[in-house]
Amino acid sequence: MMVADDSCIKRIALKETCEFLVDTESQRTVRPMDIDRRSALRVHNVRLIDGVEETAVPDAVLEADDDGRITYAGPAGRAPAAPRGIATIDGRGGTLLPGFFDCHVHLGMPSNQSVVEQALMTNDVMRVIQTVRRLRRTLESGITSARDLGALPAAYRDAVTGGELAGPRLQVSVGIISHTGGHADSTLPSGLHLDFDFCVLADDVREVRLAARRMLRDGADVIKICTTGGISSATDDPDDEDLLEEEVAAAVDEARRHGGRPVAAHAQGRAGILTAIRGGVRSVEHGFGIDDQGCDLLGEREAFLVPTLQTVFRPLERSKTSPWRYEKKRRWNEITKQNIAIAIERKVNIAAGTDAGITPHGNNLAELAHLVELGMTPMDAIRAATVNSARMLEVDDRLGSLRPGMLADLVICAGDPLQDINLLSVPENIVVVAQQGVVRKNALSLGPSVKTLEDQPLLERTS
Ligand SMILES: [Zn+2]
Repeated sequence: MMVADDSCIKRIALKETCEFLVDTESQRTVRPMDIDRRSALRVHNVRLIDGVEETAVPDAVLEADDDGRITYAGPAGRAPAAPRGIATIDGRGGTLLPGFFDCHVHLGMPSNQSVVEQALMTNDVMRVIQTVRRLRRTLESGITSARDLGALPAAYRDAVTGGELAGPRLQVSVGIISHTGGHADSTLPSGLHLDFDFCVLADDVREVRLAARRMLRDGADVIKICTTGGISSATDDPDDEDLLEEEVAAAVDEARRHGGRPVAAHAQGRAGILTAIRGGVRSVEHGFGIDDQGCDLLGEREAFLVPTLQTVFRPLERSKTSPWRYEKKRRWNEITKQNIAIAIERKVNIAAGTDAGITPHGNNLAELAHLVELGMTPMDAIRAATVNSARMLEVDDRLGSLRPGMLADLVICAGDPLQDINLLSVPENIVVVAQQGVVRKNALSLGPSVKTLEDQPLLERTS
């Protein structure tokens, strides 16, 4: 009896301690993608693309207050006088754009080796160091907000939020849910099970709910599921179907019951794309096999397509690729280019994502050039990676455009990306990056030994 009482008291004490910790540590009223640091900032001598207007403002000024919130963005001639002492950037005739989004990254994955190789050959400390570097590199390439769809613990998001780590504002799925033998099954052909903590297998509605709840417990902002196999997996195919529609609907319901969170579906083949949209997902990731029916359904349900074209346009080297993979990839690359070009022509909701981790990190904005190659205008490609992405991630009330009242997440690109969208693909052309008015990269103020912008042929001066 005494023992029971004692353990009961201990349990109550533990519970109170836990509640105390929860109260102080994690019950902050932080909305997804918030960050703590903010600063006043003024930018002048720039061409402005604000993400909303059809045309650029040739000579513009942007000003943000101490809260990092934009108070003015428009023609220099109508700009208010600069407040005394405000941090000011002379953009030297470059182009000022909203901070970009990459809605499909895997910052925990190396792009120069496979996840299998990483799991076997890299120790945990080195893995953290490499991930921290990737976050900074991604930010410096112009990505001020990103959605990570698997293999990144939520603590990285929290470290960015708290200012402990430089990186894009983050939404994370933490893990990926598929059925046994599906796209997220980390059992190797040898039978060796790698037991990746970010891969969760679920084979009926009950298990899907449980898997989603585990992801939510681990801090997921979005639930990532698979409704098809993949191009790069040896044992399945994009036309193989993964979760059933009722299982997709269960994941969608579970996410909805927890703060109205969305679900993103890895969906490559036609059948799995339709299953995902019918089940109620917010976004179809990849969507390589999308057809007219898929485009219509996407429009009806107001869902988004994230075509991850970097995976498709990446050069394919026959000598470095196994024969089965080479053929599969070559075939699907062609199918994808045709289907996504049609989806672009039909003006479906497209948000930008690269699958960085599978493709190289830090070169994220090359995705815009690929969208243009398949028929998008440069302005629409910029919108796909700014306002449209912000809308998909439900942060467009504060991010994705440079208008008064929005947060001053911005980049300055040397030259005019409306004339040449490829300028954005070169990280060195992204000369300034700021989040909420806090400057994260400023290649304009480097020392005298560094080449100045005037020496760079890509820069067009307005004066
Ligand atoms: Zn992916």
